[in-house]
Amino acid sequence: MLTKVVPATRQRPGTVTHTDDLDPVQVKRAYKFRVYPTRPQESRAVRLLADHCDLYNAALAERREAWRMRKASISYGDQSAQLREIRAADPHGQGRHSFTAQQQTLRRLGRTFGAFFKRVRAGQQAGYPRFKPYQRFDQVLFVAGDGAKWEPATGGRWAYARFQAVGRLKVNQHRAVQGRVKTVQLKRESRRWYVIVVTEVEAAPLPATGRAVGVDVGVARFATTSDGEVVPNPRFLDQARARITDLERRKARAKPGSGNRRRLRRRLAREWRTVRNQRRDFHHKTARALVDTCDALALEALRVANMTKSAKGTVEDPGRNVRAKAGLNRSILDAGWGQFTTILTAKAASAGRRVVLVNPVRTSIDCHACGASCARPRQDTVICPCGAMDADLNGARNIATRAGLGSGRALVA
Ligand SMILES: [Zn+2]
Repeated sequence: MLTKVVPATRQRPGTVTHTDDLDPVQVKRAYKFRVYPTRPQESRAVRLLADHCDLYNAALAERREAWRMRKASISYGDQSAQLREIRAADPHGQGRHSFTAQQQTLRRLGRTFGAFFKRVRAGQQAGYPRFKPYQRFDQVLFVAGDGAKWEPATGGRWAYARFQAVGRLKVNQHRAVQGRVKTVQLKRESRRWYVIVVTEVEAAPLPATGRAVGVDVGVARFATTSDGEVVPNPRFLDQARARITDLERRKARAKPGSGNRRRLRRRLAREWRTVRNQRRDFHHKTARALVDTCDALALEALRVANMTKSAKGTVEDPGRNVRAKAGLNRSILDAGWGQFTTILTAKAASAGRRVVLVNPVRTSIDCHACGASCARPRQDTVICPCGAMDADLNGARNIATRAGLGSGRALVA
């Protein structure tokens, strides 16, 4: 599940607060499902993307010209107002498409310009928004009930997503969709098609627990909390690593261009897909457990870049095989940290819990007790004048402190 937390209106962005009465917090959830269009549906979907791409580029051209000719800036509102005319002039092209979906495409351009002007105002380097080629324009967003309809799977096997000018597409709905469907998006990723269903649910606050922790996500263990709880790396990682290493080796030996090599490549892709799914499932379970037992959680922002750096030092004896293994380890784990943060943040918002993201600089190397810079002779240990400590626990406590959750030490014996 992809998740994005959007606070309800009237709330400051970035904060999720709770009142038990009147004004429930709305949480957005996004579900991504594979779509199986028929050949004719697929060619209509390609045409839909192309038409929206044309609209996007035309609107971009208008903004460029206005700026070049008379230093005038054109807003989303101006462009949206012209849509009716454009559609009337092109009944077999633009006129066939959903009006509100076209507005979404114009809004998308508006956001691109918004980000551009923001960078300009901040004095940062900013490239003027560019025209998009057809092959790079890969999604169209529909407002549910207006040119698009979501039909969930009931009893039978398939769900359907209906899009104006494309048709009713078969969807493999592998999980239940909760909440009111707000938007339905059609998306192309290389040769596959997906639908992204975004819903809105009311947050259901969980009872307070009195626990607030910092969470350090690592390589040796998946996570360590500032009050000493350890979440080990799941077993499936080892199993997957063994299978993937074996397949990689066999593929390297197979003759280029041979059927054997092609089969091995497909099996590898399948293994990776399995790992991704297991990992996502593991992230959901781990996040669930933390959200159920904590009122507030602190994590490092942008953990991934940090991790890759320290993971290089993880292996104590970097022989050839060990290094390859570490690299694979990293790629299996790496992709997951951002996802875990996203899932945890969304679950927390749904449950009325607080998540604080802190600056990751030096969390692993400064002593949480005295602030001195520690030595780190091994990946799992830091040593400071106060003594030797578990490195991940020290990191988790620094994270808790930076988030203003206290040191998190009270519960540790
Ligand atoms: Zn110290």
